[in-house]
Amino acid sequence: MRTPVIAGNWKLFKTIGEATGMVNDLKPLVAAAKGTEIVVAPPFTALSRVADALAGSNVHLAAQDCYWEEEGAFTGEVAPKMLKDVGCSHVIIGHSERRQYFGETDATVNKKVKAAINAGLTAIVCVGETLAEREANKTFAVIESQVRGGLEGLPPEALSKVIIAYEPVWAIGTGKTASDAQAQEVHAFIRNLMARCFDQGSADGMRILYGGSVKPDNVKGLMTQPDIDGALVGGASLKAESFAAIANFA
Ligand code: 13P
Repeated sequence: MRTPVIAGNWKLFKTIGEATGMVNDLKPLVAAAKGTEIVVAPPFTALSRVADALAGSNVHLAAQDCYWEEEGAFTGEVAPKMLKDVGCSHVIIGHSERRQYFGETDATVNKKVKAAINAGLTAIVCVGETLAEREANKTFAVIESQVRGGLEGLPPEALSKVIIAYEPVWAIGTGKTASDAQAQEVHAFIRNLMARCFDQGSADGMRILYGGSVKPDNVKGLMTQPDIDGALVGGASLKAESFAAIANFA
């Protein structure tokens, strides 16, 4: 059985005070959700203090990005082992906003995924098609090249440290979520692809999250789909009440 994952991507929101206040509100609201892996991804500046606030709770800490080198003259970058050091267990890699605004490619995603896993982090690898690609019937081709490119060269045993997040770009921050069936279709495609690229056991064990306008009122329908193992939540993860309602979907 795959453990469901509910992850909140806070993007470029929250000061340290806002971040610690939010997780202090969140902890009691999700304390009973034992069967779910709950993750929050604050901005880098808040990681250390949020890690302290989360100590002893069932909420895990993620960063929103990392670099692929362990150290060196790379001004402005943050290494996976530094994220591990600050208390992160997870890191989001290749979010569509990073691909769109910051030049992230499948090749850079691949280097970051390998570095993150080597440092002992779980990589949440984001893939997703744009509206133009969907309308041109290129969804599966785009997803296939992003998944293959992002995970290229990984040994099958590394896949237990990978979570894929399918986030159709047209559903992010638009209030326009993919239908349960649209999401399931792509998730099943990704799982099949994993079986072809690696092996059936690894594919069956891998968690595949959906992201894009997930809210308390649509999470249940998504989570009942056979290949949807969780959600990567943006806007609705910024408030303790709405994120807790999603995390308590079960
Ligand atoms: P929204 O939930 O705001 O659509 O954002 C989704 C997302 O990008 C999560 O990474």
